[in-house]
Amino acid sequence: MSVKQIEMVLAPRQPHFVGDGFRVHNFIPSGYGLTMQRMDPFIMLDYASKYHFPPTGKPKGVGVHPHRGFETVTIAYKGSVAHHDSAGGGGEIHEGDVQWMTAASGVLHKEYHAESFCATGGDFQMVQLWVNLPAKDKMSTPKYQAISNLDIPKVQVDNGFIELIAGTQYDQKGAASTFTPVNLFNVKLEKGGSANLSFPAHFNTALIVIEGNILVNQTEDVPLDHFLLFKNEGTDFTIQATEKSVVLILSGEPINEPIAPHGPFVMNTRAEIVQAFEDYENGKFGVLED
Ligand code: MN
Repeated sequence: MSVKQIEMVLAPRQPHFVGDGFRVHNFIPSGYGLTMQRMDPFIMLDYASKYHFPPTGKPKGVGVHPHRGFETVTIAYKGSVAHHDSAGGGGEIHEGDVQWMTAASGVLHKEYHAESFCATGGDFQMVQLWVNLPAKDKMSTPKYQAISNLDIPKVQVDNGFIELIAGTQYDQKGAASTFTPVNLFNVKLEKGGSANLSFPAHFNTALIVIEGNILVNQTEDVPLDHFLLFKNEGTDFTIQATEKSVVLILSGEPINEPIAPHGPFVMNTRAEIVQAFEDYENGKFGVLED
């Protein structure tokens, strides 16, 4: 084994609102070199740090919009989200749950705070991640995986555990099915707890401190809401919790194909983007009421 080297630690940028329900700090794609190519297959990451919403009778969120060519993954840390799509997928996720929507050939969907959350208000904290699909799967049939926290395999570590949302670690497999090798874990540690993780050197690997404060490789202090990017050198790293902590880990094998992004569509060529707009305008993404 060799130690996975650290490339940089980033503070969260100024937040902005997506719709009226998601107050997010964008990490991918952004300046600082975190391009879609650099983070491939993770092409977008918005982090909604903990934020209090008062009660309301009108659910906040994002209205009907299309996606094609990738998957959207939403991880709920605080609060609850409702989702509906034109392929019939939908439901609510609560604290600890994950929704994994494969837009692939195209869906319309809408994302809102759940009614139960709106009734009481409260703290809201989420991650939304876009995972790219290889060219051969971009036009496959849409699907939806609702992953309850109870169904996420957990691996015990020193003073804590790792939730395997997707991927493999300690010879155990995660809950979600993926098209290419994608690891997505929550590491949950008590103060003083620690975990060792290992991924191939060429996998693009990063983490976000969702709660608490950690030390990576025994030297790098990473505070709350900060993002750490690893170099593509070395395989193994350690996390130690200097407070009770929750850390999101992402590590994926690069797909290494051309990326043509435009708004809600991520394809391989510009012609495919033009086609996506044409198909959207011609109603080929199905029907979903606002
Ligand atoms: Mn969306």
